[in-house]
Amino acid sequence: MKIRVLGSHGSDLLVKGSTGSTLCRSVGFLVNDELMMDAGTLASGLTLAEQQRVKHILLSHLHLDHIKDIPPLVDNLSGLVDHQVVVASVPSVIGGLQKHIFNDVVFPNFFNIQGPRHSILRAKGLEAKKEVSVSGGISVTPIPVNHTVETVGYVIRDDIAAWIYSGDTHLTEEIWQVAARIPNLKGVFIEVSFPNSMMDIAIQSKHLTPTLLAQEFRKIGKPDLPLYVYHMKPTVREAILQEIAQLEIERVTVLEEGQEVEL
Ligand SMILES: [Zn+2]
Ligand SMILES: [Zn+2]
Repeated sequence: MKIRVLGSHGSDLLVKGSTGSTLCRSVGFLVNDELMMDAGTLASGLTLAEQQRVKHILLSHLHLDHIKDIPPLVDNLSGLVDHQVVVASVPSVIGGLQKHIFNDVVFPNFFNIQGPRHSILRAKGLEAKKEVSVSGGISVTPIPVNHTVETVGYVIRDDIAAWIYSGDTHLTEEIWQVAARIPNLKGVFIEVSFPNSMMDIAIQSKHLTPTLLAQEFRKIGKPDLPLYVYHMKPTVREAILQEIAQLEIERVTVLEEGQEVEL
């Protein structure tokens, strides 16, 4: 699977550094050109031709930094594609998206508005812990994690490889127990939002710091598993990077916008 990093942060910010500027963007990963894992960055990170290839959007939860590029995608694709874009997650997330965003107040309800043949968006409710197949021979299984609102991480697999995407999470158990049992697990994407000095905020907002990240990663029991880190809050990015560099984890990568990961 080819995973393209459109956004690897917990917000959007242009960060000025000594060697130039870095544009931090909200969470969004494009898998095999067709499947989005969260949609904090989607339309603003892809050309129109690339957006026309997106068939599925899997959401971890309803927080804005994970959904906010779905409306511009719909605007851009309007009248241009024959297929429906399937937006999938557990029912509370799909229902919440329609109730709070696509509600004909904040944004038109493109789950209902009929184009020449059908609506652009199609909602698909997923059952936690039940595997379903999505586009291009890829199957996904949502696994509940521990965040301030109902949130799922995902096991994503094809015939060759499997990887895990944690969504936003605090200390959690089940997804790591699942990870420990997957024989061809090639990588795990785990969020980190705040540096250790902001532990109180991390606990209150149910996120992870580098110390908590290491603790969660150890639960999988595979110390040589590649670990990919994302969801850093841009204003504290440098402190987080320094603390991750000090973790004794063999194969850790802090994801950056524009990067590609092949699993
Ligand atoms: Zn988030
Ligand atoms: Zn969140």
